[in-house]
Amino acid sequence: MTHDVIIVGAGPAGSTAAIELARQGRSVALVEKDEFPRRKVCGEYMSATNIPVLQRLGVAEAWRDRAGPEIRKVALFAGQRIVSAPMPGRDGFGRALGRDVHDTLLRDAAGREGVELYQPCRAVALCRVRGRHELTIDTGSGGSMTLSAPVVIAAHGSWERNTLPTGLQKGSGTNGLLGFKAHFRGASLARDTMPLLAFPGDMAASCGPMPDGCPCHAASGARRLPR
Ligand SMILES: Cc1cc2nc3c(=O)[nH]c(=O)nc-3n(C[C@H](O)[C@H](O)[C@H](O)COP(=O)(O)OP(=O)(O)OC[C@H]3O[C@@H](n4cnc5c(N)ncnc54)[C@H](O)[C@@H]3O)c2cc1C
Repeated sequence: MTHDVIIVGAGPAGSTAAIELARQGRSVALVEKDEFPRRKVCGEYMSATNIPVLQRLGVAEAWRDRAGPEIRKVALFAGQRIVSAPMPGRDGFGRALGRDVHDTLLRDAAGREGVELYQPCRAVALCRVRGRHELTIDTGSGGSMTLSAPVVIAAHGSWERNTLPTGLQKGSGTNGLLGFKAHFRGASLARDTMPLLAFPGDMAASCGPMPDGCPCHAASGARRLPR
Protein backbone atom coordinates (compact mmCIF):
# COMPACT_ATOMS: atom_id res chain seq x y z
CA MET A 1 0.00 0.00 0.00
CA THR A 2 1.40 3.42 -0.89
CA HIS A 3 0.72 6.67 0.95
CA ASP A 4 2.12 10.20 1.12
CA VAL A 5 2.93 9.79 4.82
CA ILE A 6 3.03 6.89 7.27
CA ILE A 7 2.76 7.70 10.97
CA VAL A 8 3.78 5.15 13.58
CA GLY A 9 1.83 5.59 16.82
CA ALA A 10 -1.69 6.96 17.43
CA GLY A 11 -0.88 8.79 20.66
CA PRO A 12 -1.50 12.56 20.82
CA ALA A 13 1.48 13.32 18.54
CA GLY A 14 0.64 10.75 15.87
CA SER A 15 -3.09 11.45 15.64
CA THR A 16 -2.53 15.23 15.65
CA ALA A 17 -0.01 14.98 12.81
CA ALA A 18 -2.37 12.64 10.93
CA ILE A 19 -5.30 15.08 11.20
CA GLU A 20 -3.23 18.09 10.09
CA LEU A 21 -1.66 16.23 7.13
CA ALA A 22 -4.97 14.73 5.97
CA ARG A 23 -6.47 18.22 5.99
CA GLN A 24 -3.69 19.30 3.63
CA GLY A 25 -4.88 16.63 1.20
CA ARG A 26 -2.15 14.03 1.95
CA SER A 27 -2.96 10.34 2.03
CA VAL A 28 -2.00 9.22 5.51
CA ALA A 29 -1.57 5.78 7.08
CA LEU A 30 -1.68 5.69 10.89
CA VAL A 31 -0.23 2.53 12.46
CA GLU A 32 -1.02 1.73 16.10
CA LYS A 33 -0.04 -1.48 17.88
CA ASP A 34 -2.66 -1.36 20.66
CA GLU A 35 -6.43 -1.69 20.47
CA PHE A 36 -8.19 1.47 21.72
CA PRO A 37 -9.44 2.38 24.23
CA ARG A 38 -6.33 1.60 26.25
CA ARG A 39 -4.90 3.02 29.44
CA LYS A 40 -1.52 4.71 29.54
CA VAL A 41 0.91 5.85 32.24
CA CYS A 42 0.25 9.59 32.29
CA GLY A 43 -1.06 12.23 34.71
CA GLU A 44 -3.82 12.89 32.13
CA TYR A 45 -3.82 16.63 32.85
CA MET A 46 -4.20 19.01 29.94
CA SER A 47 -3.35 22.65 30.51
CA ALA A 48 -5.68 25.35 29.21
CA THR A 49 -3.18 26.47 26.59
CA ASN A 50 -4.00 23.24 24.71
CA ILE A 51 -7.70 24.01 24.36
CA PRO A 52 -7.28 26.03 21.12
CA VAL A 53 -5.36 23.06 19.69
CA LEU A 54 -8.18 20.67 20.64
CA GLN A 55 -10.60 23.14 19.05
CA ARG A 56 -8.65 23.14 15.81
CA LEU A 57 -8.51 19.34 15.82
CA GLY A 58 -12.31 19.22 16.19
CA VAL A 59 -12.41 17.44 19.56
CA ALA A 60 -12.74 20.33 22.05
CA GLU A 61 -16.47 19.87 22.63
CA ALA A 62 -16.16 16.12 23.27
CA TRP A 63 -13.13 16.79 25.49
CA ARG A 64 -15.08 19.37 27.57
CA ASP A 65 -18.00 16.93 27.94
CA ARG A 66 -15.78 14.14 29.22
CA ALA A 67 -12.95 15.86 31.17
CA GLY A 68 -12.81 16.31 34.96
CA PRO A 69 -13.38 19.58 36.86
CA GLU A 70 -11.33 22.72 36.19
CA ILE A 71 -8.04 22.76 38.08
CA ARG A 72 -7.88 26.18 39.70
CA LYS A 73 -5.12 25.60 42.24
CA VAL A 74 -1.78 23.86 42.46
CA ALA A 75 -0.39 22.60 45.78
CA LEU A 76 3.09 21.35 46.63
CA PHE A 77 3.08 18.69 49.39
CA ALA A 78 6.33 17.94 51.25
CA GLY A 79 5.89 15.95 54.46
CA GLN A 80 3.39 17.92 56.57
CA ARG A 81 3.96 21.16 54.68
CA ILE A 82 1.64 22.30 51.90
CA VAL A 83 2.18 25.37 49.76
CA SER A 84 -0.64 26.24 47.40
CA ALA A 85 -1.15 28.86 44.73
CA PRO A 86 -3.89 29.74 42.26
CA MET A 87 -3.47 28.64 38.64
CA PRO A 88 -3.12 31.67 36.35
CA GLY A 89 -6.48 31.12 34.58
CA ARG A 90 -5.52 33.59 31.85
CA ASP A 91 -6.56 31.14 29.12
CA GLY A 92 -9.16 29.31 31.21
CA PHE A 93 -8.28 26.29 33.34
CA GLY A 94 -6.81 22.88 32.59
CA ARG A 95 -8.64 19.62 33.26
CA ALA A 96 -7.86 15.91 33.33
CA LEU A 97 -9.14 13.24 30.97
CA GLY A 98 -8.08 9.59 30.89
CA ARG A 99 -5.82 8.68 27.99
CA ASP A 100 -8.19 5.85 27.12
CA VAL A 101 -10.79 8.47 26.19
CA HIS A 102 -8.47 11.29 25.06
CA ASP A 103 -6.46 9.24 22.59
CA THR A 104 -9.59 7.56 21.22
CA LEU A 105 -11.16 10.98 20.54
CA LEU A 106 -8.11 12.03 18.54
CA ARG A 107 -7.81 8.70 16.71
CA ASP A 108 -11.49 8.88 15.71
CA ALA A 109 -11.04 12.49 14.52
CA ALA A 110 -8.17 11.29 12.32
CA GLY A 111 -10.45 8.61 10.88
CA ARG A 112 -13.09 11.26 10.05
CA GLU A 113 -10.44 13.19 8.09
CA GLY A 114 -9.87 10.13 5.88
CA VAL A 115 -6.73 8.81 7.58
CA GLU A 116 -6.30 5.09 6.93
CA LEU A 117 -5.95 3.30 10.24
CA TYR A 118 -3.90 0.13 10.75
CA GLN A 119 -4.78 -1.00 14.28
CA PRO A 120 -3.85 -3.14 16.07
CA CYS A 121 -0.71 -3.42 13.94
CA ARG A 122 2.85 -3.17 15.18
CA ALA A 123 5.50 -1.50 13.04
CA VAL A 124 8.43 -3.91 13.09
CA ALA A 125 10.91 -2.90 10.37
CA LEU A 126 11.74 0.16 8.29
CA CYS A 127 14.01 0.30 5.26
CA ARG A 128 14.65 2.60 2.31
CA VAL A 129 13.93 1.30 -1.18
CA ARG A 130 14.47 3.51 -4.27
CA GLY A 131 13.96 6.77 -2.39
CA ARG A 132 10.88 5.61 -0.47
CA HIS A 133 10.48 4.18 3.01
CA GLU A 134 9.04 0.71 3.38
CA LEU A 135 7.49 -0.08 6.71
CA THR A 136 6.66 -3.67 7.62
CA ILE A 137 3.74 -4.02 9.98
CA ASP A 138 2.72 -7.06 11.97
CA THR A 139 -1.03 -7.45 11.45
CA GLY A 140 -1.42 -10.17 14.08
CA SER A 141 -1.86 -13.96 13.90
CA GLY A 142 1.45 -14.26 12.05
CA GLY A 143 0.40 -11.92 9.21
CA SER A 144 2.33 -8.92 7.95
CA MET A 145 2.12 -6.29 5.22
CA THR A 146 4.31 -3.53 3.81
CA LEU A 147 3.37 0.14 3.62
CA SER A 148 5.36 2.54 1.45
CA ALA A 149 5.69 6.35 1.59
CA PRO A 150 8.32 9.04 0.98
CA VAL A 151 7.85 10.26 4.58
CA VAL A 152 7.53 8.31 7.83
CA ILE A 153 6.82 10.02 11.15
CA ALA A 154 8.01 8.13 14.23
CA ALA A 155 5.36 9.09 16.80
CA HIS A 156 5.79 5.87 18.79
CA GLY A 157 6.77 7.58 22.05
CA SER A 158 10.13 7.38 23.72
CA TRP A 159 9.68 4.81 26.47
CA GLU A 160 9.43 1.46 24.76
CA ARG A 161 12.13 -0.48 22.99
CA ASN A 162 11.25 -1.48 19.44
CA THR A 163 12.96 -2.83 16.34
CA LEU A 164 12.76 0.42 14.34
CA PRO A 165 15.84 2.60 13.75
CA THR A 166 14.01 5.39 15.63
CA GLY A 167 13.30 3.28 18.71
CA LEU A 168 15.25 2.94 21.94
CA GLN A 169 18.02 0.51 21.12
CA LYS A 170 19.05 -2.40 23.33
CA GLY A 171 21.47 -1.14 25.92
CA SER A 172 20.28 2.49 25.79
CA GLY A 173 18.65 3.47 29.03
CA THR A 174 15.72 5.63 30.10
CA ASN A 175 17.97 7.43 32.63
CA GLY A 176 16.82 4.88 35.19
CA LEU A 177 13.34 6.41 35.34
CA LEU A 178 10.34 4.30 36.26
CA GLY A 179 6.93 5.81 35.43
CA PHE A 180 3.84 4.74 37.35
CA LYS A 181 0.18 5.56 37.54
CA ALA A 182 -2.83 4.62 39.67
CA HIS A 183 -6.45 5.64 40.15
CA PHE A 184 -7.70 6.13 43.72
CA ARG A 185 -11.36 6.12 44.72
CA GLY A 186 -12.76 8.08 47.66
CA ALA A 187 -9.78 10.46 47.94
CA SER A 188 -10.39 13.47 50.18
CA LEU A 189 -8.32 15.80 47.99
CA ALA A 190 -10.01 18.98 46.79
CA ARG A 191 -11.43 18.53 43.29
CA ASP A 192 -10.11 21.83 41.97
CA THR A 193 -6.51 21.29 43.11
CA MET A 194 -3.57 19.55 41.52
CA PRO A 195 -1.34 18.23 44.31
CA LEU A 196 2.34 17.72 43.53
CA LEU A 197 4.07 15.40 45.96
CA ALA A 198 7.79 15.09 46.56
CA PHE A 199 9.19 11.99 48.22
CA PRO A 200 12.71 11.16 49.29
CA GLY A 201 14.75 9.40 46.62
CA ASP A 202 14.05 11.47 43.50
CA MET A 203 10.40 10.62 43.30
CA ALA A 204 7.67 13.05 42.36
CA ALA A 205 3.98 12.44 41.79
CA SER A 206 0.93 14.45 40.89
CA CYS A 207 -2.78 13.79 41.13
CA GLY A 208 -5.67 15.08 39.07
CA PRO A 209 -9.40 14.76 39.77
CA MET A 210 -11.07 12.62 37.13
CA PRO A 211 -14.51 13.21 35.56
CA ASP A 212 -17.67 12.95 37.70
CA GLY A 213 -18.59 9.52 36.34
CA CYS A 214 -15.26 8.23 37.68
CA PRO A 215 -15.05 9.19 41.39
CA CYS A 216 -11.30 8.90 41.59
CA HIS A 217 -8.05 10.80 41.39
CA ALA A 218 -5.33 9.79 38.96
CA ALA A 219 -1.84 9.76 40.40
CA SER A 220 1.25 9.42 38.29
CA GLY A 221 4.89 10.00 38.81
CA ALA A 222 8.42 9.07 38.05
CA ARG A 223 11.18 7.73 40.20
CA ARG A 224 14.88 7.43 39.49
CA LEU A 225 15.90 3.86 40.22
CA PRO A 226 19.13 3.09 42.02
CA ARG A 227 21.83 1.90 39.59
C1 LIG B 1 4.43 9.49 34.71
C2 LIG B 1 4.04 10.42 33.58
C3 LIG B 1 3.07 11.41 33.79
C4 LIG B 1 2.73 12.30 32.76
N1 LIG B 1 1.75 13.23 32.98
C5 LIG B 1 1.37 14.06 31.98
C6 LIG B 1 0.30 14.98 32.16
O1 LIG B 1 -0.32 15.06 33.22
N2 LIG B 1 -0.02 15.81 31.13
C7 LIG B 1 0.63 15.74 29.91
O2 LIG B 1 0.28 16.52 29.00
N3 LIG B 1 1.63 14.85 29.70
C8 LIG B 1 2.00 14.01 30.70
N4 LIG B 1 2.99 13.09 30.48
C9 LIG B 1 3.67 13.08 29.17
C10 LIG B 1 2.79 12.41 28.11
O3 LIG B 1 2.42 11.12 28.54
C11 LIG B 1 3.59 12.32 26.80
O4 LIG B 1 4.09 13.61 26.48
C12 LIG B 1 2.72 11.85 25.66
O5 LIG B 1 2.17 10.58 25.91
C13 LIG B 1 3.56 11.80 24.38
O6 LIG B 1 2.67 11.54 23.32
P1 LIG B 1 3.17 10.79 22.03
O7 LIG B 1 2.01 10.73 21.10
O8 LIG B 1 4.44 11.40 21.56
O9 LIG B 1 3.58 9.31 22.50
P2 LIG B 1 2.72 8.22 23.25
O10 LIG B 1 1.58 8.81 23.98
O11 LIG B 1 3.71 7.38 23.98
O12 LIG B 1 2.08 7.38 22.05
C14 LIG B 1 2.85 6.52 21.29
C15 LIG B 1 1.90 5.51 20.63
O13 LIG B 1 2.69 4.73 19.74
C16 LIG B 1 2.30 3.38 19.85
N5 LIG B 1 3.44 2.55 19.41
C17 LIG B 1 4.64 2.41 20.05
N6 LIG B 1 5.44 1.59 19.34
C18 LIG B 1 4.72 1.22 18.23
C19 LIG B 1 5.02 0.38 17.13
N7 LIG B 1 6.21 -0.25 16.99
N8 LIG B 1 4.06 0.20 16.18
C20 LIG B 1 2.87 0.83 16.29
N9 LIG B 1 2.54 1.64 17.32
C21 LIG B 1 3.46 1.83 18.27
C22 LIG B 1 1.96 3.21 21.33
O14 LIG B 1 1.11 2.11 21.54
C23 LIG B 1 1.27 4.56 21.64
O15 LIG B 1 -0.11 4.51 21.45
C24 LIG B 1 3.35 12.19 31.48
C25 LIG B 1 4.31 11.18 31.26
C26 LIG B 1 4.64 10.31 32.30
C27 LIG B 1 5.64 9.22 32.02
